[in-house]
Amino acid sequence: MEFNILQHFKGLESVPLDPYNADQIGASLFMTGNMGPKITAKMDGYAQKAGLSRRGFLKSSLAFPAAMVAVNEITGMEFFEVGSAEAADLDAKKEATQLARAGSDFIVDVHTHVCTRPGHYVEGVNASARGMWFVQLLDDLGKAFGLPNGTRDMNVENYGKLILQESDTTVGIFNPFGFREDYGGQDMIPMEYQVQVRNRWPKSTIMLAGGLTPNQGLSETLDRLNMYAEQYKISGLKLYTFDATKKKGWWFDDEKLAYPIWEECRRLGIKNIGCHKGIPFGQFYARYAHAEDFDAAADDFLDLNFIAYHAAWPYHAELAALKGFKPQRKNLYAEVGSTFAATVTSRPMECAHVLGTLLRDLGPDSVLWGTDSLLWGNPQWQIDAFRKFQIPDQLVEGYGYPKLTPELKRKVLGENAARLWNIDRAAAMHAKAEIVGQRAIA
Ligand SMILES: [Zn+2]
Repeated sequence: MEFNILQHFKGLESVPLDPYNADQIGASLFMTGNMGPKITAKMDGYAQKAGLSRRGFLKSSLAFPAAMVAVNEITGMEFFEVGSAEAADLDAKKEATQLARAGSDFIVDVHTHVCTRPGHYVEGVNASARGMWFVQLLDDLGKAFGLPNGTRDMNVENYGKLILQESDTTVGIFNPFGFREDYGGQDMIPMEYQVQVRNRWPKSTIMLAGGLTPNQGLSETLDRLNMYAEQYKISGLKLYTFDATKKKGWWFDDEKLAYPIWEECRRLGIKNIGCHKGIPFGQFYARYAHAEDFDAAADDFLDLNFIAYHAAWPYHAELAALKGFKPQRKNLYAEVGSTFAATVTSRPMECAHVLGTLLRDLGPDSVLWGTDSLLWGNPQWQIDAFRKFQIPDQLVEGYGYPKLTPELKRKVLGENAARLWNIDRAAAMHAKAEIVGQRAIA
């Protein structure tokens, strides 16, 4: 079985990547993607201009902007706002990076995870074959991004190092995985493990609960929700409408199975309800990855916010239509984790259409930044790619998409999530400065 959209990362395994070197990761992704051979062929020329050997060039921070220059040249469209000097001169590259950072220095990553647990996952002992398929997929991803032990390296320690310390992320919002039928009766990532992230970095992280599966029994589900609220003081939910029970899935607009959960959320003051939508992977049925169940739920619970994680890609147009044709709607959001990562270096045209559709129809106040790290290792390359990314003029004119202005990017990268989760920006920036300070000392 193969996770097709990730196939091109298979090529990364031959080049051991440094998980701390975002430029190297970004460049490698471009070179193994759809345009990989064409981009790679251009690298010699760029290396020559920079006065470096090909090897030295690919290891340097110039290769990432060079790949973006290459994409613009190959496609004849300006997908990346990048000057050729950034690909040839280290000072110019440094200056451009500092400018971009100053332009959007407040970043809330709405979609992050740790991905292991004490005892990890052992087939036949505490995990089924089906459960191990998913672990293997995430192991492969982690290894491709320079984490030699795959999911074992997606731990609390590395959450701090790679997301909070090494990347420009100011605040990380994280959530667990459930599917306990496949993991020996225990959630794949249990709350009691992931809570360590918030305990260690309380000012820089926000914790969501997950693993609520009404097909396991509604009263049990409501009990768990109450326990999460009381014991863990959660700041929202991120759920899965496909599940590992025999029933395979459920819907947010199910008045018997789901509405009691939303009513309980209301009572508990839990406002932000996320759900994995789109990316219909592995053993799960694609039908549950569609977002149309948000339609009735959003209308019937106007005081709750419904957030489609992964922006429901490749069904993002269905999601966007739920507001595009109902502009009065105010409680529907999209988050771009994995969707942006999987398209930006390999299919920039698709990336532009996805972002353009979401931003045009849901609106610039309703799209949230997310990277799905640590599944994708260090998120910095994604942040840098988004800061550079543009919807080319041809698509702005032809589809009515908004231009990705600095103001719009600031909303997506942090301001929208800050509004949803009432994040104190000054306090979060202060905590971030402390964490980065520790990096300098270490
Ligand atoms: Zn995720």
